Amino acid sequence: MGKNKKAALPDEVHLVLPSHPERTPGSGPAIVDTHTHLVSTFSSYRSKYRSGKHETIHDFIRELYKDHSVEAIVDVWCEAPVRKVWREIADSALTEEDRERKWGRLEYWFVMGVHPHEAKLYTDEVEKEIVDAMSHPRCVGWGEIGLDFHYDNSPRDVQRSVFARQLQRAVGLGKPLTIHTREAEEDTERILKEHVPKDHKIHIHCYTDSPEWATRMLDHFPNLYIGITGVITYSTNLNTSAVIRNMARLPSPSLRILLETDAPFMTPSNLYGTLKNVRGKLPLSHSAMIPWTAEFVATVANGAEGAEQWDTERVMSEARENARRMYSV
Ligand SMILES: [Zn+2]
Repeated sequence: MGKNKKAALPDEVHLVLPSHPERTPGSGPAIVDTHTHLVSTFSSYRSKYRSGKHETIHDFIRELYKDHSVEAIVDVWCEAPVRKVWREIADSALTEEDRERKWGRLEYWFVMGVHPHEAKLYTDEVEKEIVDAMSHPRCVGWGEIGLDFHYDNSPRDVQRSVFARQLQRAVGLGKPLTIHTREAEEDTERILKEHVPKDHKIHIHCYTDSPEWATRMLDHFPNLYIGITGVITYSTNLNTSAVIRNMARLPSPSLRILLETDAPFMTPSNLYGTLKNVRGKLPLSHSAMIPWTAEFVATVANGAEGAEQWDTERVMSEARENARRMYSV
């Protein structure tokens, strides 16, 4: 015993972050997390902190987001069968009074679809439930859907046909699309171009594929955005930074990006530059970490242009406007 010491788990108090060093609390652009998995994040909190102080999602959110200007989140429901609890959570954000009291003024929105991992579980019944959810007042899109040839959790031909089928339904309803694609560039591109009109709103979430593919997609679809998570800060991933550099090099550079966490995953690694006194790694990510991802994007963009044009706040404000264009949030 004692040889394999478990990595230290920081006290849960450290999940409540200090303000990002470049931000003044209460001013500057608000945080909009355009892709987060709230129920999984809360379950991960409960499993790591078994006697943790928060027993409801609402308490947890209010504490973590307070003083961080988290204005809105887009929560993602992508399981098959559909988790029934979605309606309870979405309904709890219907009135202004509830948003104030339960959510601490956070604007809760969601998208729903079936993830490529679970494509083999897609049925008419599941589709009916999703179509039904699309008319909920807090629903802003269909997703995350797509192809994942890295894990191949569902057979590829099933992934392709379920992806195409969901695209057709979403486009028919005029719903913005949240796309998951991994190591499936050619097929994702072909299927998207076949089923989705050019001007449709598309969010390629947690981008890690090649910079060339991003350029092709951005050129073809004028309302397509690239989702940036904390993965951009990882040394194992160079593609996402290359995408940012290509955007920053344009004659009148604008970042066609959305900032997201994909929580509970992808904690930005530069966060630990601020949390110097915390021992161990935080076991989950959450929306208040977005400014660290924005800071990293600014540094990458400045490197491309050779001028200090970008900073955390400018990146956040462009991404905030893009979130409005993409999801009307
Ligand atoms: Zn996701």
